[in-house]
Amino acid sequence: MAKDIDWSSLGFGYIKTDYRYVSNYKDDRWDIGKLTEDETITLHESACVLQYAQTCFEGLKAYRTVDNRVVCFRPDMNAKRMADSAKRLEMPVFPEERFVNAVEKVVKANMDYVPPFGSGATLYIRPYMFGSNAVIGVKPATEFQFRIFTTPVGPYFKGGAKPISLRVPDFDRAAPKGTGHVKAGLNYAMSLHAIVDAHNQGYSENMYLDSATRTKVEETGGANILFITNDNTVVTPKSDTILPSITRRSLMHVAEKYLGLKVEEREVFISEVPYFKECALCGTAAVLSPVGRIVDHKNEILFPSGMEKMGEITQKLYDTLTGIQMGRIEPPYGWLREIR
Ligand SMILES: *Cc1c(COP(=O)(O)O)cnc(C)c1O
Repeated sequence: MAKDIDWSSLGFGYIKTDYRYVSNYKDDRWDIGKLTEDETITLHESACVLQYAQTCFEGLKAYRTVDNRVVCFRPDMNAKRMADSAKRLEMPVFPEERFVNAVEKVVKANMDYVPPFGSGATLYIRPYMFGSNAVIGVKPATEFQFRIFTTPVGPYFKGGAKPISLRVPDFDRAAPKGTGHVKAGLNYAMSLHAIVDAHNQGYSENMYLDSATRTKVEETGGANILFITNDNTVVTPKSDTILPSITRRSLMHVAEKYLGLKVEEREVFISEVPYFKECALCGTAAVLSPVGRIVDHKNEILFPSGMEKMGEITQKLYDTLTGIQMGRIEPPYGWLREIR
């Protein structure tokens, strides 16, 4: 039976659901894994995750399509990305097949929390892994826990997608050859000060530049960036220190294959940003979030699409990808994973 939740007024906060998935790694192997009702974790005081931040995570959504199927969007991509994150952080890979099965299992167990179609709300899924045994010398843990919890979240845009303002901060997000390309908790720990500061200055997000030269656009703290040129080419920055967003990769595919637009993944200099006509952030949470303004110290960039609504091409990309996700438009093979 559907839970008694006011789906339309949900925000993006943690709401407890009935079950979460847990698997433990010990003696060089993952155990069989199980669902549990216990949302708490008891840890050793010297657990590697607490002392040295050995942890990575993923984020994806389950939701209902127009024909009332419950689906996840490309969970295999999250499985692959988490494998890459784990390797970079000296953690064991949770096998991709098992990852997707565990996502399926935990969504199924919390089916009553999957919001109804049309509410705009979704069931957010958070897989994560951490080093759990005691270490004090700096070295990787030998025991790990992989968990997945779910929590219903509200529509990202309440009352329409208003364009946001970004600023170019005096902080860096990722070092060359660092961990910017993996979904490590540590990348977020060091972004907290920068985001609080941005909010205090009246900006929604920080748009980070490459830390080596401070001349090239990277991404924000939790979303990749797309630009649209005057001749409707979709441009996204190419860099080894950007987190490979699944939404961004899906949008580039949609732009090229569904909308027939030219797409470019290349270095994007901050000096050329004033010549684009549209800009948007992309990630699982909002899919696309229009950007109307970027402030780089003394320079203010105002995109022709303005501060009132999404640019025309951004809107087309948004409508097409959300159409695919909601089952209104035929998806590329394997993009929707039905849960039943
Ligand atoms: C998770 C994340 C994104 C968005 O990735 P999606 O797979 O599209 O949700 C973008 N940038 C950073 C830094 C992230 O951590």
